[in-house]
Parts: sequence; C-alpha cells; structure tokens
Amino acid sequence: MAKSSVLGYPRIGENREWKKALEAFWGGKLEEEAFESALRELRLKHLRKQQEQGVDYIPVNDFSYYDQVLDTAAMFGIVPKRFAYSGGPVPLSLYYGMARGTEDATACEMTKWFNTNYHYIVPEWDGASPALTENKPLIAYREAKEKLGIEGRPVIIGPLTFLKLSKGYKEEEFDHWLAKLLPLYVQVLQELEQEGVAWVQIDEPVLVTSVSRSDIERLKKIYNVFGTEAPGLKIMLQTYFESVEAYSDIVQLPVQGIGLDFVHGFEGNVASLKQYGFPIDKVLGAGVVDGRGIWKASLRTKLNLLEMLSEIVPAGRLVVQTSCSLLHVPVTVSQEEKLGSELRGALAFADEKLDELVVLTKALQAGETAVAEQLHSNELDLAALQQSEARNRRDIQQAVAAVSAAEPRRGKSFAERHVAQQNKWQLPILPTTTIGSFPQSAEVRKARQLWRKGDWSHEQYEAFIREQIDIWIGLQEEIGLDVLVHGEFERTDMVEFFGEKLDGFAFTQFGWVQSYGSRCVKPPIIYGDVAFAEAMTVEETKYAQSKTKRPVKGMLTGPITIMNWSFVRDDIPREGIAYQLAYALRQEVEALQTAGIGMIQVDEPAVREGLPLKKRDQAEYLAWSVKAFRMTTCTVQDETQIHTHMCYCEFHDMIDSIEAMDADVISIETSRSHGELIHSFEENTYKLGIGLGVYDIHSPRVPRVEEMTSMIDRALEVLDPGLFWINPDCGLKTRGREETVAALHNMVEATQLAREKL
Ligand code: GLN
Ligand code: ZN
Repeated sequence: MAKSSVLGYPRIGENREWKKALEAFWGGKLEEEAFESALRELRLKHLRKQQEQGVDYIPVNDFSYYDQVLDTAAMFGIVPKRFAYSGGPVPLSLYYGMARGTEDATACEMTKWFNTNYHYIVPEWDGASPALTENKPLIAYREAKEKLGIEGRPVIIGPLTFLKLSKGYKEEEFDHWLAKLLPLYVQVLQELEQEGVAWVQIDEPVLVTSVSRSDIERLKKIYNVFGTEAPGLKIMLQTYFESVEAYSDIVQLPVQGIGLDFVHGFEGNVASLKQYGFPIDKVLGAGVVDGRGIWKASLRTKLNLLEMLSEIVPAGRLVVQTSCSLLHVPVTVSQEEKLGSELRGALAFADEKLDELVVLTKALQAGETAVAEQLHSNELDLAALQQSEARNRRDIQQAVAAVSAAEPRRGKSFAERHVAQQNKWQLPILPTTTIGSFPQSAEVRKARQLWRKGDWSHEQYEAFIREQIDIWIGLQEEIGLDVLVHGEFERTDMVEFFGEKLDGFAFTQFGWVQSYGSRCVKPPIIYGDVAFAEAMTVEETKYAQSKTKRPVKGMLTGPITIMNWSFVRDDIPREGIAYQLAYALRQEVEALQTAGIGMIQVDEPAVREGLPLKKRDQAEYLAWSVKAFRMTTCTVQDETQIHTHMCYCEFHDMIDSIEAMDADVISIETSRSHGELIHSFEENTYKLGIGLGVYDIHSPRVPRVEEMTSMIDRALEVLDPGLFWINPDCGLKTRGREETVAALHNMVEATQLAREKL
C-alpha cells in the first residue's frame, strides 16, 4: 500500500519560538538547560503534529540548533583550526562560535542552500581530523520513539553532497577526504541498524546539479559500502529542487528507495522515468507536494500524476511525499486572519501540506471516493482564487503583453547618452555617491511603529521623515558627495515597501521562514496581477531634491529582486510575473522623471539568487531578467541617468548579462572580494558606468583613507576613469550615524587624492 512521507519540517515554530529561544540563549537570558528544554518541546510538538496527521514516515534529525549542514560538520568533528578544538562532542559554545564567530575566531562562511533563500554554514576541511563525535540521528530517533512512540526516519546529508558543499580542500583531495568520511558514516548507519531503525533518508541534492563520471563512480562506491556494512538498514536516497542528472545510473545504486522531486524537477524526472522505467526492487519517493511553494496543490492534478506513476511503479512501492523539506515554507495558515478568503483558501503552508499528503495517500489506498469531499473542496478553493478579480486584470494583462512583445531599448546608445548626461550633470571625474539607505536608527523605527499603530497621524510621520531627509541632505552636502539620496527612511525593507503599494500583493501575519541562523523572513505573496496603483517614491525624492542643488538619485527595487524575494503565484510563468512587475515599476520611473528627478536607481541585488540550478536553463532566465530590467528603465529621456545596484560577489559568469541591462551606472558590492571582481573585469571590457564599492558596509569599522585609495588605484588599473564612480559597497541602513559620516568623509578624501593623480 502507498505510504506518505515528509522530508523535513520547519524548525522555527508557529510563533518563531525557536528564534526567540536561540536569541535569548545567546543574549544570556536563558540558561542552557532551559534552552535545551524549550527546543525539545518544540521538536516534539512538530513530531506530534505529523503523528496526529497520520504521516507514515516522519523525519527525525531534521531539527537543528542552527543549521543541518553545521550539525553534520559538528557530528564529524569538522571544526576549523582557528577554533582551538581538540576533539570530542562539540559543545554549544563552539557550535554557535562556528556559526556566529567568537572573540578570537571569525565565523564560518555562510552561503545559499542551492537555489533557496536558506543559508547554510560552509564546512571547512583544511587541517580537519574527522571523527564521529556523537550519533545525532540516533539520538533523534530514540527521542521520538521513547517520547512519542514514533518510528522516525532519520535524515542525514549524504557524503557526496556534504563534501561538495564544503571548502578547504583541493579538488584532488576529494577522494582522500571521502575515504576518511565513509567509515564515520558507516558507524552512524550501523548504530542505527543495531537500534532497529527501518529506513534512513540520505539527502543527496547535488545529484540534481551536474554529476560527472567520477561522481557516479564515487556514488557507487559510497552506496556499495553502505549496503554491505549496514545491510539491514533501508536507504531512501533523496534528491530535490530539480530533476536528477544521470538518472539511469542513480536508480541502479544499491539502495532501497529513490526520492525524486516531481514539482521542481517535474519534466525531467517524468521523462527519465518514462524512458528508463524504474527498478522493480525499489521504492519511489514521489515528491508531488510542493515543499517550497505556499499554494495548495491541485489534488486532482496530483492524483493524475500519481496514477501515471503507478503505471510504472506499483502503488505498493510508491511513497507520496513532499518535494523537499518543508523548511522553506511557513508553518501554518491557521493563524492568518487578515487575508482575503479567496487567497487564504488557496494557501497551504507546512501543516496544510501534511493534510494533502495524507489525502493523496488515502486516495491511492482506498480509491478516490474515499476522499471525494476533499477533492471537491480543493477544486472550489483553487477555482475561487483563479476566478478572482485579482487574477483577471485584463487591462493589465493586455498592456503587459503589448509592452513585452517589443524589445525594450533606450532611445540612444550608451555612448550618446553618456555625452548627453555629462552635459546635463557636469559631474566631476570619479563622482561620489551612496547606494541609497542611511542609518535606520532606533528613532526611525520607533516613528514607524507609532505611525503603524495609529499613535501618530500620517502628517506627523511624514513630517518626521522630512526631518530625517533634511538632516541627511545637509550631511551629504557637508561631506561633499556629488550625487545625493533621500535616505530611504520611510522603508521597512526594499520589497515590502513596494509590495504594500502595488496591486497583486498580500502580506501574512505569521508567514515566516528561516533565512539563516535565527534570522527569519516573511516574504510577501504575489497572488494576483501586479499593477501600479499610486506613486511610491515620488514624494520623498522630490522633497529631497527641493532641498539641494546637487542631483538627488531616485531609488526603487527592481522587478527581479521583488520577485525573487517574494512567494509568487504558480499559475503563470515567472517570466510573466517579472514583466508585470517591470511594467508597474516603469510607471514609477516615469513618474520620478516627470517630477524632475533625473537620476534613478533600480536595485537588482537578487538577480543571482534566482539563477536556475541547471546550466542549460540559466541563459533563458538571465535573458528575461535583463529584459524585465530594460522594460522598467527604457522609456526615460537620454539625459536621465539610470543606475542599478547589485550585491554578492559571484558575478564572473554574469558580466555579459549585467552589461546587457544597459544601465548607465552600476554599483556592485565588491569589498569582500575586491581582487576577484576586478580580475573578472580585466578579462571583460565592461563599457558602461561602474562603481565598485570601495568599502565594506557590513562592518562598523571606519575604513582609513589609504585603504580606499588603494582600492581605487587598483580598480583604475583596469577600468576607464571616465566611467568610474566611487561609493560604499551597499546601503548603509544597518550602520550608525557617526561611523557612516566618518566613513563617507574618508571616502570623499580618498576620491580627492585619486582625482589629483589623474
Ligand atoms: N538601495 C538599497 C539600500 O541602500 C539597496 C539595498 C541592497 O542592495 N540590498 O538599502
Ligand atoms: Zn547591496
């Protein structure tokens, strides 16, 4: 009979209890014992929910005190040398030290978990002496069994994925380290086997990226060893986020189950399954319920899919599962009281997805009639949103179709615009500017709270914002910056601010997901057709411009960033959503220009984040992302200078696309990888205006003039001084006022020195 399974459950709790406990513990407000017990309670609660829902395979060891990759590193004693670790179980202080840094040692690097917004801690191998410090999966298994009588399925990150996501070794050392790691895995598995564990889930998501021949050989070796050394333990080899590469090799591995993603890897996995079939001795983990999206599944569609799969794999060997861990979605819709009913009815967060799994499994077991009622109400819920006004803005759909049918381009080439803009603005060589935001002080946040609660009138709040603008326009003039900004004091964050003003967006009250460590984000939901409703940034920008003779740069977030940092509807392609956003934002750009703002920055820090996992899909994504940016910005006059800004350093393989965006000026975050970035510009000939951040805003330290001078000198070796801008590497909203002013003073001084040398 078909069974149901969850690949992982969110750890943060319905009310972010997890975050609160972690932060209280770090802040010394919670003793270790109380902390442990708070987390245990949460962990058990999550298991109980799944048990009560009737999920057959419930994951254990998916819970973490910070991050599951860090857990794996700690379990195998992979601790960087700088932490003075001498073996044995990794204490909490060291565990958190690796995640967050200590007085004496910098934190481990953190990076994105595949193409999600979850960030993991990167294990470092140099100088490691791997040893099993504790069998965490076993501990988790015992706890679930003793406390709740649950036969849990331990989740472990597989050795290939774990090593590939690590750093601190050379390519040729890979097999050396793998050989060290394997016996430790074997010990973990053998102890689970002795304990009587039936199944383990071994996650190997790297199998959806590129898998070389030598990786296939490694996989064979790994899973042969596991099969021989722990023959009584069944392994579900789990993949997710895309279709697997090398399907025909992977299904031959000596494991008892293969888990595939039939949401995000739908086409590829179905095609492989049809082409190569599925081995008769294995279980197929059919990831049909979207672990990353927030929408209710169409149960009808999923049942059709499962029926199709059961023609290839008998229902007795099908496991109905989430497409990936539910870590990437909020916990429950049940607390959301402020959403429209059409929207709310179509949402499924983690808890609601448990429901879907169980219903689908039941349908396979007992026939559709057993779930007729659920099928019916599911259809009604989905149809209600589909037929809602929000999703049927014909005017918008037609306008966007018309606009996106043409190739968006500026009226003149960059070279011609450059001349026109120089004539208009008369900026000095190496113009100085900032990225947009100035410190969001406690006072600023307080004011916004008062206004949101209704304690302050709109006028009061507006007056306060104007005061802040006055102060910072004054400061920028005094510092001697050439292009000013209004400071973004009215914005909470760069997506929410726009989402609240555009049509088609909704905001949950509790829809948090873990981003990294204790940091959670609450992405907006793009559920309807996106449309411009009212000017969003014009008032503040115009006001700032009225206070100074120097140019004030308008500031908005670009379409791709807004999309990548939101949950988006899944009834139309992402490309279409991007164009709707672009068309709406274009109206803001035009409104700014009409209001006399002649420099407009459209931030796109998150373009890189949306890059598809498969190389073959990347060009297409970049092409429509570039097009969306150009749609947003192409209708302005030649003299109007379009700026953009991007964060995060891996740009080397994207420079062509960045150039194709055709922004008059781009500022790029570089100070943490300055050398590398300049190097990539050496090999390319980027021909538009560019500002490589000359100091790192992530640190409160005020950089010295000489540090910035050397950055500038180095950059000018490869870049045309006539196109080079001087700026910090990102927005300054997290910094304090004093350090910001001091750092910008030094930046202007470094610029003067550089100008004298030219
Ligand atoms: N204009 C934004 C700011 O300065 C850009 C932020 C970002 O790049 N993430 O805050
Ligand atoms: Zn930035």
